[in-house]
Amino acid sequence: MELFETLREMGHEQVVFFQCEDTGLRAIVAIHNTTLGPALGGLRMWPYQNEEEALRDVLRLSRGMTYKAAVSGLNLGGGKAVLIGNPETDKSEPLFRSLGRFIGSLGGRYITAEDVGTTVEDMDYIYQETDRVVGVHRVHGGSGDPSPFTAYGTLQGIKACLNRKFDDDDPGKRSFSIQGCGHVGYYLTKYLREAGAKVFVCDINDSRTERAVDELGAEAVPMEQIYDVDADVFAPCALGGVINEDTVPRLKCQIVAGSANNQLESEEWGTVLEERGILYAPDYAINAGGLMNVAIELQGYDRDRAYRTVSTIYNIIGNIFSIADRDGIPSWQAADRLALERIEAIGNVRRFYSLRFKDRLSGRRPHTTATIG
Ligand code: NAD
Repeated sequence: MELFETLREMGHEQVVFFQCEDTGLRAIVAIHNTTLGPALGGLRMWPYQNEEEALRDVLRLSRGMTYKAAVSGLNLGGGKAVLIGNPETDKSEPLFRSLGRFIGSLGGRYITAEDVGTTVEDMDYIYQETDRVVGVHRVHGGSGDPSPFTAYGTLQGIKACLNRKFDDDDPGKRSFSIQGCGHVGYYLTKYLREAGAKVFVCDINDSRTERAVDELGAEAVPMEQIYDVDADVFAPCALGGVINEDTVPRLKCQIVAGSANNQLESEEWGTVLEERGILYAPDYAINAGGLMNVAIELQGYDRDRAYRTVSTIYNIIGNIFSIADRDGIPSWQAADRLALERIEAIGNVRRFYSLRFKDRLSGRRPHTTATIG
């Protein structure tokens, strides 16, 4: 890989490699864009085959976080960290504490969080060395499991879609097919059932499907038939890449809106959905509730405030559809445009020097620099 050329093409500001012989640490932090604020993004631990694979992953994921934070109205930039290793066998307290010290050395430019392969316990080790970490345990002012917030945000996005499609945002009058009843899918099913909706569910893990059926009154559908269900909304809440050549012709829904990351196998499938008259809620905007929730930790966690912030997803999804109308583009593209427009606009505002209110009050540098917009 021509590293500088790749960074230029993808727009990254900084990539840092950390190694520690004593702890076996091999980690990469990628900071994509900090125009809006410090880069926040999870720490992924994965047994990457080689360093290039790890590097590609962290570059791709960190760029995605820039867009996600920007559309979410957060004063945060995009970043991500990857830790090369097997999360089942290679974890230790010194490993995460050494990474914590290195993250601290970045001077607040990057804030880490949980991701695939890492847990609240790992974040707690990092927290012993730096406060540039969110998603820590509640005793440290953390916010706990983000899934209910992600599900709540997804519900708000679904309501915005219903409003656009049916001029009525009441989910209780509609039917839903939900793929995956894990952390987010379970709570989404719960919220929808509480609203009185008809909900079909499937999961590769039978016990999870049974729980949604027994506890929430959902109706089970065989896994392979989830794309054929005649429901108003299809909500992917399991895997990425599920909107593709095989599935799009089968969909009978009018809306695709779920929590899964990277739902479109490639962007063209977002355009095809549009052509078929199916409304698509861009994944990184509708599933931003978890990010919004952990971001509140930076100011002192407040659960009510977290829910209020997450409910803005209704308007965010609505704004994306307005941009799509304004520019005659599909919604997936409108989401990118909303993000880029905000980064540019706020970047322009910050061109001239001004002391921030907080700085003037205290007469010293603020402890954390992130604020939520
Ligand atoms: P999870 O692992 O708890 O749940 C996923 C569920 O999908 C599991 O129950 C799994 O058995 C099931 N599944 C896997 N393959 C399947 C298949 N082929 N068909 C049907 N079910 C299948 O994960 P989660 O935390 O609920 O996240 C769900 C999705 O939302 C993921 O794509 C995740 O990246 C995304 N997301 C989650 C959060 C969050 O706060 N948890 C935030 C943003 C995005």
